[in-house]
Amino acid sequence: MGELFAALRAPSEIIFGAGQRSALSWLGPRLGTRAFICVDPYFATSEEFTELVALVETAGVAAAIFSDVVPELPTDSILAAVEAARSHEADLFIAVGGGSCIDLAKVAACLLAHGGDIGDYYGEFRVPGPILPLIAIPTTAGTGSEVTPVAVITDPRRETKVGISSPYLIPTVAICDPELTLTCPPGVTASAGADALSHCIESYTAISRETNSALAGERVFVGRGELTDSFALAGISAIAQGLQRAYTDASDLEARALVMYGSLMGGLAFGTAGTAAAHALQYPIGAMTHTPHGVGVGMLLPYVMEYNREERVTELAEIARRFGAVGDDESVAALAPQLVQDFLASVGIPSTLDAIGFPTDRVGWAAEQGLAAVRLSENNPRPLADGAVSILGAAAIG
Ligand code: NAD
Repeated sequence: MGELFAALRAPSEIIFGAGQRSALSWLGPRLGTRAFICVDPYFATSEEFTELVALVETAGVAAAIFSDVVPELPTDSILAAVEAARSHEADLFIAVGGGSCIDLAKVAACLLAHGGDIGDYYGEFRVPGPILPLIAIPTTAGTGSEVTPVAVITDPRRETKVGISSPYLIPTVAICDPELTLTCPPGVTASAGADALSHCIESYTAISRETNSALAGERVFVGRGELTDSFALAGISAIAQGLQRAYTDASDLEARALVMYGSLMGGLAFGTAGTAAAHALQYPIGAMTHTPHGVGVGMLLPYVMEYNREERVTELAEIARRFGAVGDDESVAALAPQLVQDFLASVGIPSTLDAIGFPTDRVGWAAEQGLAAVRLSENNPRPLADGAVSILGAAAIG
């Protein structure tokens, strides 16, 4: 990577461990007096959630609960949350749920602080200042949203999913308690786990800071570096050890902890280094097929790795070794895409466009839309201008 470079943007506090959700009793009152709690509708009916609300209220914080969270986050549910939070006079957001729920809280807290239309904030660095404080408590292990500057939205006015990326969207505090993921069914475990693995691999193989023109000028905010590489590799190891176990035995708490740790590592890595082609191309594919985000990125990831291979031999070799490969860099790097595809197939992630219901005659359209997600497509280590169609063409054949 040339000269030593390290950058990290992250919450001011991260707490990880089984049972650590109890930290809400002292973190809540430290950050506000009127909490607006966004909760995943599945999780809202759980005993654990009732206990969390009791912790907040016993600590003297008035709580309002919003459980109308819809997966993949359509804009309507954000607007409903903003209205409800405004009438509660919220000064603190708490999100207890998957990526859809945490992203909802991020955008609602932004709109409450700054007003305007959601579309005003699409893209990068468009949030003008701090949002309301946010405590993020994930109940899936995958998106890393509890530590990232990103929110991903489905806007019916647009053909593809859209992102908001701003350091102001980073939650104030992340509390990661793997016990909260024990109820995730295999499909959610696999999709979220594939998302986490994609975050680790895409940030670890992202464009280097030296060749990133946006980072060379005065906007030296972030970029791939030593810290993000360390997090990404730790995440790949943890997911490689835990995901199949968590998928086959939902009650395996040690496996759940490994995957949630991998997800946290992936979030810390990509929150600074960014993701790339698999994420850019999933936006249109996810919008058209209504498949979960993690299924789409997991399906695309091996084809993106193969496309990038010659630019990232050392990195792909390190990845392959975490899936058990032994040998010199060139030979194990060549195995990495297939090893990752086999690993993901073992938890039920499809491996072709057809298998997720994407019509192959729309490849040209998806490539165009993916390229338009410049924040992601320009972060790919090999230029995508011609490559997007060939990646999708390979994914069509399988
Ligand atoms: P999700 O939040 O959409 O939830 C998926 C399903 O799992 C829902 O039906 C939900 O009710 C259920 N669920 C959640 N927790 C559960 C639990 N503990 N037990 C049983 N069921 C549970 O899924 P996700 O994968 O966490 O989030 C996906 C969203 O996050 C997408 O919109 C994606 O684009 C976005 N995303 C955001 C970031 C980011 O940095 N902000 C990163 C990646 C993805």
